[in-house]
Amino acid sequence: MHNNDKFSEHFCLGELIRSAMAERKHIDNTPPDEIAENLKHLCRQVLEPIRQHYGKPFRPNSCYRSPELNKAIGGSATSQHCKGEAVDIEVPGVSNYDLARWVEQNLEFDQLILECYRSGEPTSGWVHVSLKSPGKTNRKQALTYSNRKYTPGLHP
Ligand SMILES: [Zn+2]
Repeated sequence: MHNNDKFSEHFCLGELIRSAMAERKHIDNTPPDEIAENLKHLCRQVLEPIRQHYGKPFRPNSCYRSPELNKAIGGSATSQHCKGEAVDIEVPGVSNYDLARWVEQNLEFDQLILECYRSGEPTSGWVHVSLKSPGKTNRKQALTYSNRKYTPGLHP
């Protein structure tokens, strides 16, 4: 696997594993092959359809986190980011609430979380989307995370 391996028309492996923190701390954020397969699935089923729908280039904020990187950022040990099953995204010019709603209505997902979004501030927060590896059952769970708690459904 190489960083410039194309996983779908508009996305390559490098974009799914890049991390400012990993660079700063010299952490190797290269995934093992089975995790790279999950990233490819996520790319084809989630990122590329979003890219095609909005027609705007974007780079994922955060996708794969190696155990070392996850530790460095204080992430949950069970985070789907560590399995290559989750991505955090924003699309330029699109409200994160609208983006989350589009994903909810159009894509297969395991967990969809509208994170840290503040009403009236379209660019606040981000959208977390997870998708289990092929063959596993997705929970189809949509949540809003704000004020340090999760509530069911997407709330503007
Ligand atoms: Zn996330």
